This record gives sequence, structure tokens and C-alpha cells, in this order.
Amino acid sequence: MRKYFLLYVLVFLQSAVFAQKTYIFCGNLLDTKSGKLLSKQTIIIEKNKIVDVVSGYTKPKSKKDKTIDLKNKYVLPGLIDMHVHIENEFGPTTRLDRYILDEADIAFNSVGFAKTTLLKGFTTVRDLGGTGVNISIRKAINKGKIPGPRVITAGKMIASTGGHADPTNGSRRVLIGNPGPKEGVVNSVDDAKKAVRQRYKNGADCIKITATGGVLSVAKSGDNPQFTIEEVKAICETAKDYGMHVAAHAHGDVGMQRAVIGGVKTIEHGTYMSEATMDLMKKYNAYLVPTITAGKEVEEKAKIEGYYPAIVVPKALAVGPQIQGTFAKAYKRGVGIAFGTDAGVFKHGKNAKEFGYMVEAGMPEIEAIQSATITNAKILKMESEVGQVEKGFFADIIAVNENPLKNVKTIENVVFVMKNGEVYKNE
Ligand SMILES: [Zn+2]
Repeated sequence: MRKYFLLYVLVFLQSAVFAQKTYIFCGNLLDTKSGKLLSKQTIIIEKNKIVDVVSGYTKPKSKKDKTIDLKNKYVLPGLIDMHVHIENEFGPTTRLDRYILDEADIAFNSVGFAKTTLLKGFTTVRDLGGTGVNISIRKAINKGKIPGPRVITAGKMIASTGGHADPTNGSRRVLIGNPGPKEGVVNSVDDAKKAVRQRYKNGADCIKITATGGVLSVAKSGDNPQFTIEEVKAICETAKDYGMHVAAHAHGDVGMQRAVIGGVKTIEHGTYMSEATMDLMKKYNAYLVPTITAGKEVEEKAKIEGYYPAIVVPKALAVGPQIQGTFAKAYKRGVGIAFGTDAGVFKHGKNAKEFGYMVEAGMPEIEAIQSATITNAKILKMESEVGQVEKGFFADIIAVNENPLKNVKTIENVVFVMKNGEVYKNE
């Protein structure tokens, strides 16, 4: 027995000491925490974790170790997008899709969207709502069945009857039916609690509500409040019981105020946010997820005849151009900013365009990058796992050709992507 025990110890020691490591030589490494660019660094990776980051180019200790040369690149941690819809991509036929696509069709479509997102350098995303297939996508990615970013998902959104995320909006009366909390349509405090618990049961990681009207729903108002404050509070308090945070889609100011006071963590879009609401956001420690890219894209697409249903066009033309300006004001006033794009409303893979829009609106490059790394990691309570290239963190690493602190648009062309220690792109 003793003999075997010693043998086990020897085998264990050998695998611990001689486990294969990957050494990445970085000409320039962005320390997202300090905001400083460090030159000549070596990142050492074992399995899916960063085990060390050392100054200079260190030689591997074992012949089995691999090396990756990024000496003439700029290396950053994998990016985090707080607002995507990984299941779909909006187009002129989207209204029809609801009636002709099965869940399996949606799942197959999403495989490509998830891969595109990852290859563009986004190694973690928060999915803010789909049919619930997004929960299966998360599982498939985590099991290594399909390539994709780490997914934190809200499953199916929560709305009120006729609200922005009521799945039967704009349908024939016979198809409208009476969707309840299970489908994400709530009309009382009890409904609200039930919908949150249902999402927990289904396997969601967080909760998404549509606090006001929205642009792309087949409904007249793009900004009216759609929940009572009691309903928002019931959702946020129940979510908290289950360890989930709440994100609120909001364009109009009244619904936005109710959401912030009710306890949501992030306000998505924030289009008509008043200065009073900005101050409330600061007081309640809520973050704005700007989605400027979505604003620009819907404005552009609304000009194409027949792209959106007629009822959507005036909303897209009104809301789209406002978003960047509101972001600029909120940032100046000191509201916390969390990077998020609403990819899926436009083509997946364009996520990094948001950096350019943020910088154009007055945010320094480093702060835009920190919003997509440090800030988002903190909101997701993953601040010791993602958002930095640091010992003990997941080996989520990307590289670009130019200095992103001077030309932030270089992030639109990511040349290297590693997630969980596995290389997905190396050009
Ligand atoms: Zn969205």
C-alpha cells in the first residue's frame, strides 16, 4: 500500500512540476488596472489560468512548454460586452422569424454569432435576452462543444403586457393569447416575483427588464414607463435573493428613475436621461451601458425603405441619434459607465466600434478600455477572474497591431485571441 502511495505522490509531483505551460512574449502589455502600458513582459499560462506575469522575456523551463510571439503587438485582457443578444441578428425578416424558426434553428444560427463574437476579442458577454436558447448556448460553450465567449445570460426578458419585450406584440389577435410570467409578461408584484424565480429555475444568471418602451418592438411608444415602482422593487429584491443582478432597458426618463430607485444595477441605452436621473444613478451606484453602436445602426437602417415595420421607423430616427450625446453628458457628470453594444440589434462582430464612439464623445481611450474590462468584471462579480492579465485570472488574452491608447479603433482588428488558455486566433 505504502509503495503505491509513494508512486502516486511521485506521479502527482511530476505532473505538477512538468505540466505543460504556455509562454506569451508581449512587446507591450496593457495593465488595465493601473492604465499603464508595460513593455517586454512574459505571460505564463497553465491550463486555463494565468500563473505568472513577469518582466522581460523569460525562457520556458521545460521542452514541453509552448511559446507565442507577440513581441511586436499590443496585448490586452479579453474584452467584456455587457449587452449582446447572441441568439439572433436583426434584419428585415425578423418579425417573420418568430413564426417560422424553431428553437433548433435559433440554436444553429447562434453558433456562428458566438464564434464571431469570440474571434473579435470578446471573451465574456452578458446576453440580455432571447428565447432562452441562450442558456443552452452557454452550456455548449462551457462544455467546449462550440467556440464562443463566456456567457452570462438573462434567459428571457421580463416586460409588462404590450411592453417592449412582450413576445406577442404586433401579432394577430388570435396569436396574442395571454402570456404570463413564464413568458416574461408580468402585471403585478406577485407576477414579478414569479417571473424572476422562473428564470432562476430555467438557469438564467441575471435578470433583464424592459423598464420603458423600445425602438424595435411593434408598439407606438419608444420611451413610456412600463412597470410600477413596486413591480421593479419586487423584481430586484427577488433577484437579489437568488444572487442575480438586474439590467433595465430604458429610453424614457420616468421609467429609468423607477428602475434606478427600484434597485437595478445597469441602465441600458439611457437615451432621454435627465441630470436628476444621472445624480440618482450615482447615488444608487448604478451604471449606464451606452450601446452607442446600436443607436447609430438603427438610425442608419431606418432610412432603408422596408427594413423596419412602419411603426418602428420614427422611433429609430428619434432615439438613435440621441444616445451618444446622452452618454457624453452622463460620463461628464460622473455616472459609472459599463461597456455594452446591443450586438444582435446589428451584426455580431461589430462590438469594438463602440470604443471609437465612446472616445469621440469625450472619454479617454484608457477609460473606454477599462469600462470593457475592469468595470464590467466588477459588475459581474468576476473582478478576480476576468478583465486583467494578472496571476490567477482566466487566460483570456487578445492582441492588436497598434497602441490602443493612441488609436482605439485598432481594437476593431484583433489579431490574437486566447480564451481559457486556448488559442482561437493567431494571425
Ligand atoms: Zn438589447
